[in-house]
Amino acid sequence: MIYAALQSDTLSWQRSLKFAGFYRGRLDGITGPLTREAAAQWRESHQQLQTRYGRLDKRTEDNLLTLQPLAALKVRQMMTALRGLADWKLICGIRTYEEQDRLYGKRPRVTRAKGGQSMHNFGIAGDVCLFVDGKDVWTPSEGANSIYKPVAALAHKLGLVWGGDFKSIYDPGHVQLGELSTATLHHAYTTGSATLAQLLQS
Ligand SMILES: [Zn+2]
Repeated sequence: MIYAALQSDTLSWQRSLKFAGFYRGRLDGITGPLTREAAAQWRESHQQLQTRYGRLDKRTEDNLLTLQPLAALKVRQMMTALRGLADWKLICGIRTYEEQDRLYGKRPRVTRAKGGQSMHNFGIAGDVCLFVDGKDVWTPSEGANSIYKPVAALAHKLGLVWGGDFKSIYDPGHVQLGELSTATLHHAYTTGSATLAQLLQS
């Protein structure tokens, strides 16, 4: 989901703002002054990162702006380094619960995760893809010539979790912040009971 679309889904947007610690109001799906104030803080914190690390391609920026600022900091650092090597783009940032449920319903099956069961639903995960002459390239994805070697190296260096290390499924284009359980994240994200920073500290 791109930034503009996230903002048009008010409840998802409020959840993101609350999880980032910016929104002090209720998760009611109604845009009011507190939502607008929090949105300004969100923009400001992302703009600071853009100023510090430099603006990237439009697709990457659109997805980066949907991530929790704590995740965006590291994913942006990774993307800046990756783009210095080749045409890597961030092709997925946040996926709202609604989007995730739509994906879950697709046949043939593309995911086993419903809304609230993917790290992407909380804005703390990103997917990268390599483009060569404008075309997306996915292989070789394993072994000595894997195209994902720099992704693994940078994720490890920056302290991101790399999807190629997952035991359940090999997902080398995926990175995420931390190893919190989806149950913990889902509860905090939907009720507003804790911010991401609080969860990471506890
Ligand atoms: Zn992913």
